[in-house]
Amino acid sequence: MAKSASVIIFLILCSGCASHQSLNIKDHKLPFWNKLSERNTNDLDMVVVHATELSDMAEAREYGERILYKEAGTGASGHYYIDRDGSIEQYVPDNRIANHTTGWNKKTLSIELINLGRYPNWYHSDHQKMQEPYTQAQIDALISLVTEFKSRYPTIKYTQGHEDLDTRIIAAENDPSKQVARKMDPGPYFPWELFLDAVDLKKETPEKPE
Ligand SMILES: [Zn+2]
Repeated sequence: MAKSASVIIFLILCSGCASHQSLNIKDHKLPFWNKLSERNTNDLDMVVVHATELSDMAEAREYGERILYKEAGTGASGHYYIDRDGSIEQYVPDNRIANHTTGWNKKTLSIELINLGRYPNWYHSDHQKMQEPYTQAQIDALISLVTEFKSRYPTIKYTQGHEDLDTRIIAAENDPSKQVARKMDPGPYFPWELFLDAVDLKKETPEKPE
């Protein structure tokens, strides 16, 4: 009796948790975040899904902190990073333009899934298979995060993978007569059907920003 009563109390106490508790996102802004250009979040139209193609969150951080654009004092990164256990870190605020997809940064939010991809032989012609499936915890966290975006920014109607927006082909590093894809993320392991059903976004590309 006591046990079932405590279960009932637990259920009552927790019935409001899901709706009241906001997502647990670790604020972990990049050192140069305030040098990235500001934007109006009313212009957001698309979520871009990426894979880091790196070993872990620490390495993703190291890459994210690198200064690649000397004049601006900034680098390349996504807005959010989701680890294999589903934990989420935010590197760049939503109202700042992150450098994550050539030509598509202005109006997009970017989410990076920690995943090996082709690491560390990205451009080797014999190494063009993505190596690691995504975890359920990652996909669950991604769906929760994008659901949160949709309620915060109703102008977001579209989603694409990095590979859909950057289709450039380059010479393989081991054999310049062979060609490899510059970007392959999130790649064939990403469960598009499940994701699109859950978040109700169109897998289409909006008009390209200036
Ligand atoms: Zn990417």
